[in-house]
Amino acid sequence: MSAIRTTCAYCGVGCGISGTPNGERDAEIMGDAEHPANFGRLCSKGTHLGETVSLEGRLLHPMIGNARASWDKALGLVARRFSEAIARHGPDSVAFYVSGQLLTEDYYVANKLMKGFIGSANIDTNSRLCMSSAVAGHIRAFGEDIVPAQYEDLEQADLVVLVGSNTAWCHPVLYQRIQAARAARGTKLVVIDPRRTETCEDADLHLPLRPGSDVALMNGLLAHCRRAGLVDEAFLAASVDVPEGFWDALEQGSDLWSTARTCDLAPADLKRFFELFAAHPRTVTLFSQGVNQSIRGTDQVNAIVNVHLATGRIGKPGAVPFSITGQPNAMGGREVGGLASTLAAHMDFLPENVARVARFWGTPHVAAKPGLKAVDLFRAVRDGRIKALWIMATNPAVSMPDAGMVREALAACPFVVVSDCIADTDTSALAHVRLPAAGWGEKDGTVTNSERRISRQRALFACPGDVRPDWWIITEVAARMGWKGAFHYARPADIYREHARLSTYQNGGTRLFDIGHHAAIGNGAYDAMEPWCWGGTPFADGRFPTPSGRARMIAVSQMELQAPLPNWPITLNTGRYRDQWHTMTRTGLSPKLARHRQEPLVELHPEDCAALGLADGDLARVATPQGESVFRVERTDTQRRGEAFVPIHWTDRQSTGGRAGLLPRTLVDPNSGQPGFKSTPARIEKL
Ligand code: SF4
Repeated sequence: MSAIRTTCAYCGVGCGISGTPNGERDAEIMGDAEHPANFGRLCSKGTHLGETVSLEGRLLHPMIGNARASWDKALGLVARRFSEAIARHGPDSVAFYVSGQLLTEDYYVANKLMKGFIGSANIDTNSRLCMSSAVAGHIRAFGEDIVPAQYEDLEQADLVVLVGSNTAWCHPVLYQRIQAARAARGTKLVVIDPRRTETCEDADLHLPLRPGSDVALMNGLLAHCRRAGLVDEAFLAASVDVPEGFWDALEQGSDLWSTARTCDLAPADLKRFFELFAAHPRTVTLFSQGVNQSIRGTDQVNAIVNVHLATGRIGKPGAVPFSITGQPNAMGGREVGGLASTLAAHMDFLPENVARVARFWGTPHVAAKPGLKAVDLFRAVRDGRIKALWIMATNPAVSMPDAGMVREALAACPFVVVSDCIADTDTSALAHVRLPAAGWGEKDGTVTNSERRISRQRALFACPGDVRPDWWIITEVAARMGWKGAFHYARPADIYREHARLSTYQNGGTRLFDIGHHAAIGNGAYDAMEPWCWGGTPFADGRFPTPSGRARMIAVSQMELQAPLPNWPITLNTGRYRDQWHTMTRTGLSPKLARHRQEPLVELHPEDCAALGLADGDLARVATPQGESVFRVERTDTQRRGEAFVPIHWTDRQSTGGRAGLLPRTLVDPNSGQPGFKSTPARIEKL
């Protein structure tokens, strides 16, 4: 069989893959040399995708409780229970919790059903945990959720600054591209991260800042730029609104020494960073979860964007702030409105937008206000306000903060539906109905990666058993709830065309998200679609999609950083391992990937280990005000003193300990609703 061009199942780099089915359920995987995201490169996770396409552990049939059911019976039950809840308690008594693993077409119909026909905006996504602070920061600064960069900017930059990103592990192919650019043209690399990760190994400078001090660092940098005469006054005058009193406020505590003290950095290192930034106008500042997963994530994003706006380092080759997305289709979810805080096609809930979408979808029921964001959504489930919940392609019983509360909430919810490709997850164990959804290698549709590039994901295999694509499952439920005419699609291309039409319909001429030239794309052209980026080179003309056409600098100040508490003396951070993905439902199937890290470790500085009487390999209890779990100790000087790191991947199904999800607090950023997974007060003791 010949190779099929598709995209990787995992991270937001969105690498192209050339997959050749090899026997029944096996595939030979290569990097797609033509794909502009990776030009043939792959990381370990993508390379071993072929090991994860077997039918081991798959959910192959609809299940009601533990009994196999027909599709008709299962879909009828889901439609009836949702309709009954809506009739008795109103549209806000039901909710969907979806995923950046869905394809754009799946996401579109889920959003249309909930916001357009059920009439609630209670659809949120696990992308809330990943990059919603970047979304909120973009909207505040640019007026629209626009990532202004593309990967080639990394190759055109003279300086790449990585903030809160272990790029070498979490976006490995981008790291390879950065390294190739460094070898070719001597690009400077600065890494800003409390941990000394693999990403720091070859960097020109690593700034191991105090967790949570990012705003102070960026404000200090901006104050330095102003003193050094680097503010682009002409660009500000033409294109950027600066709040009154901004510069005076910035000067407070933003001198080199104060910044170094707040960030717990050596002044000489900080000075070197400022000088590198000053010397290289072509700067890309790439940021990820270390910035977003904070209770001040949106301010941290805007602190970075402020520096780029003030110095005119935006809309130019190699000069941009760059939010890197975690999941393969978090960006597609943003485009369709898969977050509870947006309506559709990058629109918010302004009355004219609600009316516009109502006309387009032909429904009087469009939600008129934002819905519950992830943490609030599960609190509403716990409190009994949500009577029916549908979870698609994600495992919140492991991945949400305070995952123990999420489990209790699901156990008490009157009706829980899980559609997933995996039979048994910590979440599906609590479902009343399980629906077998297509997995990677069976799905057919589109995804959008971190640089706004839309690529096709194509099927290598026919769906096994009774498995169906998510879009089909959602539309069949919609039909049974009485909306068959509005959800009549024969194929993913039908949905994509409607999505493209809506993107034009919403466009008053200012928004950059517009894929309307695909509104009439033929089925053949959709099948053959080459990867492409929407939005061109955003802001190259100095115009921004705000009502005034001007960007906005946002006054942000450093929050007070709490001193360690006597009972909770350790600051705990969470993150990923190189070769695992999310809750390991897929990567856990690959023996080769398991070799990298076989168990979850708590990484601790040697002096902390000594003070706690811990040796390398000991078992230790990691406790926070939220919960506790057991990890094996790794003694390492890559951690700052007084800080610890644990990985997010392990679940009760794989291990009796290592449950990072039980540890973070449910505190969220007030602007984005993104949980603050980082900087949790903790204590660690020998078991
Ligand atoms: Fe897949 Fe990301 Fe690795 Fe590319 S970098 S192969 S998208 S996991």
